[in-house]
Amino acid sequence: MSTEKTIQDIVARADRVLMHTYARTPVAFVRGEGCRLWDQEGKVYLDFLAGIAVTALGHGHPRVTETLRNQAGKLLHTSNLYHIENQIALAERLTEHSFADKVFFCNSGTEANEGAIKLARRYASEKYGPHKTTILAMFNSFHGRTLGSLSATGQEKFRKGFGPLLPGFSFVPFNDLKALDQAWDDSVCAVMLEPVQGEGGVRVPDPDYLKEVKRRCREREALLILDEVQTGLGRTGTLFCYEQFETQPDIMTLAKALGNGLPIGALLATDEAASAFQPGNHAATFGGNPLVTAVAETVLSELLKEGFLAEVRDKGVYFKKRLGELKEKFPLIQEVRGLGLLLGLVLDRPGKPYVDACLAKGFLINCTQETILRFAPPLIVSQGEIDALIEVLEEVFKELS
Ligand code: PLP
Repeated sequence: MSTEKTIQDIVARADRVLMHTYARTPVAFVRGEGCRLWDQEGKVYLDFLAGIAVTALGHGHPRVTETLRNQAGKLLHTSNLYHIENQIALAERLTEHSFADKVFFCNSGTEANEGAIKLARRYASEKYGPHKTTILAMFNSFHGRTLGSLSATGQEKFRKGFGPLLPGFSFVPFNDLKALDQAWDDSVCAVMLEPVQGEGGVRVPDPDYLKEVKRRCREREALLILDEVQTGLGRTGTLFCYEQFETQPDIMTLAKALGNGLPIGALLATDEAASAFQPGNHAATFGGNPLVTAVAETVLSELLKEGFLAEVRDKGVYFKKRLGELKEKFPLIQEVRGLGLLLGLVLDRPGKPYVDACLAKGFLINCTQETILRFAPPLIVSQGEIDALIEVLEEVFKELS
């Protein structure tokens, strides 16, 4: 009898035992190398999604694997009751290369955002009193699925049925300073947003927008929280996306690419903001354990290697130009947008058939907000791999349009 597993078997088993929280594509990958993935039947795919902006260094990166192996053989976990040197070393690197003075480690993006919400509220409560609790957040945002982060997420489809959510969040349209001013009152303790909205459709704000938001925060005694879970760690061509907008947050959250696939999140803050957390105020059992922080430090050191981010920027410009050429050829493409290697093609119709057609041809892409094809390849993607995707997109647009 054959021991080969068919994808139908795998799907049937998943249906029996896993909660139906994901509309999964019927593919199961078993191996990866660089930008390539192999499924259980041996078919090879080029990955232009990187596990949704996670595997920035690609699959099976030799230095990541080596660090993981070495550290796994030494020590996995102790507890934050004790000092963890790998955690300190990672925080040193993160603070050296960002606006931040202090770091708190957790396990995911949503958890980092929970920490950001707590920190901003506690800071305001200690400094200004109990009335200052409102967080201004954005329509179309995405901050995660736990109840605090969900309360900051301005998309009804994610919130529906989970109420009552956390009180004290008001929503305004992204990239609209007038609306922000109108919604602002004395109770605002923070403005929370993604510098480029990822799940919201790869939306890039006007060049002055973030700077103007920060100016208002400073004048009105509120903190700026930037969620760089998706945009951070080189994705948009600089280590952090805010660097391209001539401003700095007071608090920033990271996750996704930090562990290149190992679960780690981080909450970064200025000394001033971070001073609101004292022993007992916030914690995470697994947060920043020796294994994940060893790997994350390797990831960070790869991203910071001479020329790496400049290459990401060049490849982003090239990729966007090639997508622009497709737009000239196919009227169904309304817009090309994004920064670095976080790019979107806005279609005038649902994108799923195009995602499925690319998959059949061995290319992984994704669709967000129904009509926006999203590309977030490993940052090590080559120009040749970008060309290969463009060729396939061209075929697919011809075949389906
Ligand atoms: N924030 C942003 C901007 C995200 O894109 C995501 C995930 O897509 C999250 C937060 C949530 O991260 P996680 O799924 O690790 O909880």
